[in-house]
Amino acid sequence: MSHLTAFERKLNQLFLDRTYDLRSKLGLKKCGPKPHPKREKIDKAIQTLQDLASNILASGYAKKEFEENAGRKRGRKIVGRGWKKQKELFEKWFQRDFANQDELVYVFWNKNKCLYVGRTGNGGSRPSSHFNRKDMPKITRVDIYPAKSKVHTSKLECLAVHRFGPSVNKNKPSRKKWTKKCPLCDIHRQIEVDLRKIFRIKR
Ligand SMILES: [Zn+2]
Repeated sequence: MSHLTAFERKLNQLFLDRTYDLRSKLGLKKCGPKPHPKREKIDKAIQTLQDLASNILASGYAKKEFEENAGRKRGRKIVGRGWKKQKELFEKWFQRDFANQDELVYVFWNKNKCLYVGRTGNGGSRPSSHFNRKDMPKITRVDIYPAKSKVHTSKLECLAVHRFGPSVNKNKPSRKKWTKKCPLCDIHRQIEVDLRKIFRIKR
């Protein structure tokens, strides 16, 4: 089932549950027990719909927004035996090519699987500081992107997470606080706002 179909089904199911009483009074009752809408159920549904939205938008809207905000990519294959050597060689290249740039977004890859997205500069860290993390699988490549505007580095970082879905980032887009000015975060926020409004549960 496509993510889009799953999204629509989940949404329709919420509506059917919510209107169970009304429909059953008119003889439109469906089989199955009467659903009991609970706050936790709505919380879980919101989470599911946000996760599905992340997947649906990754290769479309997130890709477009990321590309519009990213400068030219420069990547480096990770070579050397052991993380110390890899870090040393990478650091040499990074210092030489990005000596005067302190606002960059980097993306770690294991072949075609995205592992990690981070950024340098204020509130960020150097890419090489993640080389010996226990939770980091083997890194085969690191791509570096400048933001088109310096003030937008955190937005570009957020867009990269939406776009590539890194496995190691603790703050997956659907589980963290949404970033201001990120249009993809806006959509995730809107999903929650709308669903809470439509499927309000009395305490
Ligand atoms: Zn975002």
